[in-house]
Amino acid sequence: MTIPADVLTRIQQLREQLNAYSHQYYVLDAPTVPDAEYDRLFRELQSLEAEHPDAISNDSPTQKVGAEPLASFSQVTHERSMLSLDNAMNQNELIDFERKVRARLKTGSDLDLSQTLEYACEPKLDGLAVSLLYENGQLTQAATRGDGTTGENITLNVRTIKNVPLSLRGSLANSDYPERIEVRGEIYIPKAGFEKLNQAARANGAKVFANPRNAAAGSLRQLDSRITAQRPLEFCAYSIGVVSDEFELPKTHSEILNCIKHWGLKINSDMAVVQGIDACVAYFTQMGEKRDALDYDIDGIVFKINDLGLQERLGFVARAPRWAIAAKFPAQEEITTLEGVDFQVGRTGALTPVARLKAVHVAGVMVSNATLHNMDEVARLGVKIGDEVIIRRAGDVIPQVVAVVLDRRPNTVRDIVLPQTCPVCGSNVERIETEAVARCSGGLYCGAQRKEAIKHFASRKALDIDGLGNKLVEQLVDAGLINSFDDLFHLQLDEVASLERMAKKSAQNLLNSLEKAKNTTLGRFLYALGIREVGVTTAQNLADHFGFLERIEQADEASLLAVPDIGEIVAKHILAFFNEEHNKIIIEQLRKVGVNWQESEPVSADQQADLPLAGKVFVITGTLSEMGRDDAKQHLQALGAKVTGSVSAKTDCLLAGEKAGSKLTKAQSLGIDILDEAGFIEMLKQYLVEVL
Ligand code: NAD
Repeated sequence: MTIPADVLTRIQQLREQLNAYSHQYYVLDAPTVPDAEYDRLFRELQSLEAEHPDAISNDSPTQKVGAEPLASFSQVTHERSMLSLDNAMNQNELIDFERKVRARLKTGSDLDLSQTLEYACEPKLDGLAVSLLYENGQLTQAATRGDGTTGENITLNVRTIKNVPLSLRGSLANSDYPERIEVRGEIYIPKAGFEKLNQAARANGAKVFANPRNAAAGSLRQLDSRITAQRPLEFCAYSIGVVSDEFELPKTHSEILNCIKHWGLKINSDMAVVQGIDACVAYFTQMGEKRDALDYDIDGIVFKINDLGLQERLGFVARAPRWAIAAKFPAQEEITTLEGVDFQVGRTGALTPVARLKAVHVAGVMVSNATLHNMDEVARLGVKIGDEVIIRRAGDVIPQVVAVVLDRRPNTVRDIVLPQTCPVCGSNVERIETEAVARCSGGLYCGAQRKEAIKHFASRKALDIDGLGNKLVEQLVDAGLINSFDDLFHLQLDEVASLERMAKKSAQNLLNSLEKAKNTTLGRFLYALGIREVGVTTAQNLADHFGFLERIEQADEASLLAVPDIGEIVAKHILAFFNEEHNKIIIEQLRKVGVNWQESEPVSADQQADLPLAGKVFVITGTLSEMGRDDAKQHLQALGAKVTGSVSAKTDCLLAGEKAGSKLTKAQSLGIDILDEAGFIEMLKQYLVEVL
């Protein structure tokens, strides 16, 4: 059958485009379009080829795995090909997968197909596939997948990865493992490691990675293994390749994973075995809900027919096995147009460029704004208004612009220009040479800064004004009812009740909370003032060190530097804050309206050692209904205890409120003392602490 010329042209175009994208992705570790865009083009090509099978050629991207290895590494020929996986983009395609499997098993078969099929379900880690060869129990070779037949020899680099064992557990003499065994799996970078890596890269002006997958690939394929060694790479196994004949393998995929685990390699702890495709759909939904909470990125779930005999019968097509399918989650990266940039003014006057986007679905949510951080980031990205950009939205992190698709840049693009004056109050915008951030110089004169400062003042770790949420602060400022912190305490019932969505009762509740918030601590008060770079801990350290506000107001740089955690920059901000006459007035006004805290001589090191809980390490978890966790922490610290975030062998006691989770389980397993809230309050009373 002849193929229409326009179809042939499109097929050719798609192949060239996909080959170019594959080269950028697999060889250069620098994709220029998001996976979702690649997948759309790939599928378009697949369906054109399905309609016109004569057009299929061996070199079509639909017939190939990955891309050729980099010449700078020596090459490894895989004894068994390393394949890719077919994808299911929705539930119907997943169900269709089982239908095709059954149809194929039926032909010329003696199998009882009335039985449900058993599946191994595995989260699909988003990193890169590698093969690890163990000979006589020793890691002798590690290779990338490459084009499936030939990969790159990355043995030296893989040896630096901490969770890849250099020798297998057990002994060859006991036949604990085969003489030769190839373990396959994914090398990836967990989310936290990725964030740290990029933060450090930003600080050093080094290359920032668009996503954890690129970061893993770029880190692994380094010619200098010392660089790889510094990257937070991990390995997780999901199958085997060659196995020497003398070893008898189990009959199912899940049992093989168990063997791998016994040999000392990591397998995914969320892996499950289920019966039938409906159970696969349920597993997919369940993991989809868990996706954001996992500490590594997954882009889907891989479902594999568990019975190795059936796998063998089903076999392979050109680039993927017929017995497995990767069901994909909604993509976390998408492509869209940058239609404009607005500048938002924050609490300290920092101007943040915010991208206004042509609305696009990313990870299941419609996104029309994304942060561009600051003008340095705008310069680093080289982004202009009118560009096609890649947006990433992972978990509950705010969407970000991660790259510009340069080859789609129209010639109508415009530069993003930092405004000279504040878009909210018209004051001058200042940018200090050494800082990335530009700031409005209007201070509390600027409506935006005022709102943010008051939101901060009222927030939970500051004065903790119950019922004064962000929306209400905005209403109060917009209605001209508050201009400074102390105005809050002059609010009248009727004024508040007349605001939209407010009534007498809610207004009265707010006034009650304001009254209650007047009794605070020095640490909270200092934090509430919003001094630049003074977070909760620094504020508390200042309070503990000086004991009296007046001493902090009068402190010079040397005495500020004596406070734990305070360095030169923070000290300068504190000095600058208390040198401003208007800040002194703000504090005075707050004292006048009755904001108060206890002041006392700081506790000396000797006295500290005498405190009843000196040297004890506490962890707080779960919900405390009588008092907030912050209050509990302050009580413990006042009694000399140290409060840390995670349970370890060094923890002396866990204060476990309601709905305590993994920390409680861990404390129980370590035999650590556990106190519930009632027990804790009892303990405080013993030490004569007044519990509010
Ligand atoms: P794939 O990622 O769709 O699936 C195969 C791979 O999944 C395996 O090689 C393995 O690395 C991985 N995997 C993770 N967990 C697994 C498990 N439990 N069992 C088996 N395998 C598991 O296929 P691919 O061929 O590596 O790459 C295609 C993907 O790469 C597509 O999604 C495509 O979007 C992306 N890509 C993007 C670009 C771009 O320009 N953005 C270019 C080329 C490819």
